[in-house]
Amino acid sequence: VELTEFDTALLAAGDPGIVSGLASLQAQNISAWFGDHKVLDRVSLLMPAGKVTALIGPSGCGKSTFLRTLNRMHELVPSASLAGEVLLDGHDIYDASRRITQARREIGMVFQKPNPFPAMSIFDNVVAGLALTGLKVSKSDKADLVEESLLKAGLWTEVKDRLRQAGGGLSGGQQQRLCIARSLAVKPRILLMDEPCSALDPTSTRRIEQTITELSTDVTIVIVTHNMQQAQRVSDQCAFFLAEAGTPGQIVEHGPTDVMFDSPQDSRTLDYVNGRF
Ligand code: ADP
Ligand code: MG
Repeated sequence: VELTEFDTALLAAGDPGIVSGLASLQAQNISAWFGDHKVLDRVSLLMPAGKVTALIGPSGCGKSTFLRTLNRMHELVPSASLAGEVLLDGHDIYDASRRITQARREIGMVFQKPNPFPAMSIFDNVVAGLALTGLKVSKSDKADLVEESLLKAGLWTEVKDRLRQAGGGLSGGQQQRLCIARSLAVKPRILLMDEPCSALDPTSTRRIEQTITELSTDVTIVIVTHNMQQAQRVSDQCAFFLAEAGTPGQIVEHGPTDVMFDSPQDSRTLDYVNGRF
C-alpha cells in the first residue's frame, strides 16, 4: 500500500487531531453533467482558508452539484461526469494517486435534512465517521473525541448525560448539530454545508449559525443557503450562481459579502439578494 503525504503525517502524529492547519479549496473550471445534461459550466472559485464562503442563487442552478464536486460525492451518481480540478491546498483531490476516502476525511459534508443514524446512540453517531473514513482511535481517546466534537458543535451540555440514547430521539436542531459533530470527529479541514438550516426553526437556525462562526476559526466552511440574512450573518464572501434559460449553472459574480449585498457589479446579483427572483 502506498502512503500519501497525508497518511504519513497522520501516522507521524499518531492522532488525527494533531494534523491541523487551515486549508484553502480552489475549484478550477468545474463542469458537471448528469448524462448529457450539463449543469455546471467552467465554474472557478477560491474558497480561502479559515473563511466562510456562501453559495447563493435560485433553485436548480447547480449549487448542490458544485458542492458535491468539492468532496467527490458527485461521482457517486452513476450518470454523473465531471471536468476540472479541485485543489485542496494546491493538490487536486481528483488526482489518481489520491484516494476517495482521503478526500472525504479532509472535506466533510452536512446536508439539508439532518441524517444521524436514528437507532444508533448519540456517542456512536459522533464516531461513526471514523470507521467510514478508515481512521482508528483508541477507546479512551474516543470519549475525548466525542466530548470535543459535541462541544464544538454546541451540543455537549444538552446531551452529556444521555450519550447512550438514540440519536433519533433528539430534536431536529439537535440532530443537525449531532451531524456537525459527526463531521468534526474526523477532523476535516473543510466543511461543506448544503442548506443546513432549511429544515429547522429560527432558534435552531441561529444556534447553528453561531456554531458556524465559531468553527470558522479552524475549519474552512462552504455553505449553500437560500436565506439572504443568513448569508450576511455567517459568510465572508458570497458566490452567486445562476443557470439562465436552459444554460448550465455559472457563477455570475463573487466577492466579499458586504460588497455582494450593497454594491454588486451585476444587476442580477442585486435583484437576487433583494429577493426580486
Ligand atoms: P441547486 O442545488 O442549485 O438547487 P442542483 O445542483 O441540485 O441545484 O441541480 C442542478 C441541476 O442538476 C438541476 O437541473 C437538477 O435537476 C439536476 N440534477 C441534480 N441532481 C441530479 C441527479 N442526481 N440526476 C440528474 N439530474 C440532477
Ligand atoms: Mg441544492
